[in-house]
Amino acid sequence: MVRPPQRCPAGHPLAGGDRVLVGHQPCGCGGHTSWQCLACDAVTFGPSLDADCTVLAGPAAVRTI
Ligand SMILES: [Zn+2]
Ligand SMILES: [Zn+2]
Repeated sequence: MVRPPQRCPAGHPLAGGDRVLVGHQPCGCGGHTSWQCLACDAVTFGPSLDADCTVLAGPAAVRTI
């Protein structure tokens, strides 16, 4: 279980449940949880993407659960 970020890269608060879209991206390393800020569409991945990761960052890659 990955802890959700408190804020997006732009500083918008993500806590509260209705300010973020949570998804999961399969990856060569196993997978990443993704959090998309609804204020600015910035996506944060956890664990952070590594150089070898195959996830495509972007809103189109994020799926709501
Ligand atoms: Zn934001
Ligand atoms: Zn990865």
